[in-house]
Amino acid sequence: MACEPQMDPGGAAGPLPTSSPGWSALQRGSPPGWGQELHNGQVLTVLRVDNTCAPMAFDLGTAEEQLQTWGIQVPADQYRSLAESALLEPQVRRYIIYNSKPMRLAFAVVFYVVIWANIYSTSQMFALGSHWAGVLLVTLAAVSLTLTLMLVFERQQRKANTNTDLRLTAANRALLRHRVLLGVTDTVEGCQSVIQLWFVYFDLEDCVQFLSDHIQDMKTNQESLLRSRLSQLYVVLETGVSPTMAEGPESSEEAPLLPSSPRPQERPLLQTELHQLVPEAEPEEMARQLLAVFGGYYIRLLVTSQLPQGVGTRHTDSPRIPCPCQLIEAQVLGTGCCPFLAR
Ligand SMILES: [Zn+2]
Repeated sequence: MACEPQMDPGGAAGPLPTSSPGWSALQRGSPPGWGQELHNGQVLTVLRVDNTCAPMAFDLGTAEEQLQTWGIQVPADQYRSLAESALLEPQVRRYIIYNSKPMRLAFAVVFYVVIWANIYSTSQMFALGSHWAGVLLVTLAAVSLTLTLMLVFERQQRKANTNTDLRLTAANRALLRHRVLLGVTDTVEGCQSVIQLWFVYFDLEDCVQFLSDHIQDMKTNQESLLRSRLSQLYVVLETGVSPTMAEGPESSEEAPLLPSSPRPQERPLLQTELHQLVPEAEPEEMARQLLAVFGGYYIRLLVTSQLPQGVGTRHTDSPRIPCPCQLIEAQVLGTGCCPFLAR
C-alpha cells in the first residue's frame, strides 16, 4: 500500500478489509444515484491510511465529496481537526501498532516459549526428568496459559477503548446530527499497519428518544444506580502546570531584578484530573452525549461483527443487529450489567 491516503467507498466493489469478517453481513450501500434510501448501519465510505508513513493524514475531503453524493453535508470545520487530532497523534499510532494482531501473536509466541522453559526447568527441580509424559504435561500447561492470555486479549478487544474509540467522542458529537457516526479499526496488510476510518449512516433520533425516556425513568426511580453507572464513565486527563504557578508568586524581595531565561530542568508539572464523560444534564442532552461517547465503540463492533447477535433490534433494519441505544442500555445503564470500560 502506498503512503497516499486511500478511500474505499461504501457499496463500491473495492477490496474488502481483511480484518472485517463481518463486512458481508453489513448493509453495504448501493452506489449513490440509484435512488435507494440509506439505512441505519450502512457503511458510506472507509478511509485508509498507512500507519507506518509519516506524516500522514486522512483524505477527509474525498470522503466529504462521497458523502455529498448521498445528500449528506458534514461540517468540515467542526469535525476534521477533532477526528485527525484524535487518531493521528504519534502515541495513538504507536498504540495501534503495538495492539495489532501480529504484535499480539508475536507476544503470545514469546510468552509461550518463556513459560514453557520456566515450567520445564521447575519440573527438573522436582526430578520429573525428561520423560515424554513430563514434557507433554509441561507443554499442555504452557499451551493452556498462552490460550488464556490470548482469550484475555480477545475479550479486551470487545471493550470500549479509551485510546481509539473514546477519542472520537467529540467528532461523533459534531456528526451525530448529520446522521453519520465515525469508527476506527486497524488491520495489517503485508508488513504495514493500516488505520481505517469508517463513516456509517445512522439516524439516531429514535435512539435519543429511547435513551431520554430511559434516563428520565432512572432519574425518577433509580437515581443512585444512574449516578453509579455514569460515575464510572470518565477519563483521566493530564494537564501541564508551570512550577512557578504551582508554587505561587514569589515575594518582591526574592524576585530577581533581571528576567532570567527559563532553566532547562524546569519542566511543567503534570496535574491529573478526572473528566466525566456524561455529566449531569437534561435527559435528552445526556442521551446525545452517551451516543457520542459510545458511537466509535459501536461502529467498531458493528464493522467487525462483534456486536451481540440474536438480541433483536429496535432501530436498525437488520433483525440481528442491535442498535446503539440497545448496546448502551445493556452495557451501561442496565441493572445486571457490569462496568466494562477499559481504562
Ligand atoms: Zn436505538
